[in-house]
Amino acid sequence: MTDPNCIFCKIGAGEIPTNKVYEDEECIAFRDMEPLMPTHVLIIPKDHYRDITDDVPAATLGHCFSVVKTIAEQEGLTNGFRILVNTGDDASQSVKHFHIHILGGGHMPRPNDQDWGEHATNSSKFYSA
Ligand code: AMP
Repeated sequence: MTDPNCIFCKIGAGEIPTNKVYEDEECIAFRDMEPLMPTHVLIIPKDHYRDITDDVPAATLGHCFSVVKTIAEQEGLTNGFRILVNTGDDASQSVKHFHIHILGGGHMPRPNDQDWGEHATNSSKFYSA
């Protein structure tokens, strides 16, 4: 099921151009148009789910996450990478179609209190660097 008003559904259906790096029957991966790192790829299911809590079938979730390894290998992210799934308003999700960010191509420090926003508690207590 797709949503005619959703930009990621349109990308999934090939209706608007994108910098595609991977595609199969169920999902598509493309470069983020505002990359935060040298490698910044988004993996989306072609079907529309608002976010990870929108009853995404386990098989679809599993498939999307299994593609992470494929993309990481394809992009040469041998020294590591970060995946990120912003979910809902508290996480500042801007496109309401479930997607996995893959970020890599350089060292990323752990997020600090400032990055987590004004409501963050002292994140340093969770991380012993
Ligand atoms: P999020 O804030 O987690 O919802 O992330 C949405 C991401 O989608 C942002 O990083 C945007 O830069 C990216 N984005 C939005 N529209 C497009 C598009 N048409 N092509 C590629 N990336 C996009």
